[in-house]
Amino acid sequence: MAKPSKRPTRVEALQAVIDSECTAPTCQQSGTCRHEGEKAAARHMLERLLKKLSIAAENQADEHAKTWADIYARGYDSHGSTYRKGAKYRAGQPMKERTAGIRADIKMARMAGKAPLVKDGPGLVSQALGTYRFDPIGEAPDQIKIRVHIGAGYGSIRIRIDNIPQEWGWVAEEVTDYRDEKMTRWTPSQALKDLKGELKAVGEAYNADHGSNTMTDCSARSFFVFVDADDPDTLARRAVHQRNSRARRTG
Ligand SMILES: [Zn+2]
Repeated sequence: MAKPSKRPTRVEALQAVIDSECTAPTCQQSGTCRHEGEKAAARHMLERLLKKLSIAAENQADEHAKTWADIYARGYDSHGSTYRKGAKYRAGQPMKERTAGIRADIKMARMAGKAPLVKDGPGLVSQALGTYRFDPIGEAPDQIKIRVHIGAGYGSIRIRIDNIPQEWGWVAEEVTDYRDEKMTRWTPSQALKDLKGELKAVGEAYNADHGSNTMTDCSARSFFVFVDADDPDTLARRAVHQRNSRARRTG
C-alpha cells in the first residue's frame, strides 16, 4: 500500500545534513569527523538560499512572496535559532582547501537541488517556475559539468561550466559583421548568467576582501575567481582545432 509521499524539501534536506550525527566508526575512533566538509557545504548552501528567499519574501510586488516567506521561516529551527553559519574565509588557507571547499559547495547544491524547494501541493508547478532564481546551481540542467581548479600562478580559482545545453544557455542573435556578412552572435541566457553569478559568489565566499581600499589602491583580496563558459562558436572552433592537431599527429 502506497503511503502519501513525504519528500523532504530542499531546506529540510540541507537541515538533515547539518543536524545528522556522524555514526561512522572510523570517525568515532579517530575523534575527528571526516564529514565536517559536507556539513559546512550544507550550511553555506542554506545561507545562500535563505538570503535570497528573505529578499523575495519582502518584495511586495512578488505574488509568491507569502510562499517564499513560509519557506524562509522553515530555515529556522523550532527555537527560532537561525541555521548555523559557517565562516568560509580563513587567512592563509591553502588554495587546495579553498578549491575543495568550493567543489563541496557545488556538489551539495546539486544534490540538494534534487529536492523540491516548494512543498507538494496545489500551485506547485507555477511556483516552481520561479525557483531557479533562488538556487541557480541546484536548478542547473543535470548534463552540465562544473569543474573547479586553481589558476596559473596560484593567484586565481577558475570555475568552468561545460556541456551546456545550447538552447538553455545561449541566445542566438543574427547580426551583420563589418564586412556586411551575416553572422550569429551568442549571448548568455538569463539562466546561464544566474548560474555564473552564483558560482562566482560561491568562490568569492572563500576570498578575503577586508581592507581593500581604493584610496590607497591597496587590494587585500587573496585571489581572483573566474567563471568560464564557452559559447557555441568557441566550442565549434575548438573541435575543429582538436581534429586538426589529431590529424597532424597521426598523419
Ligand atoms: Zn564523520
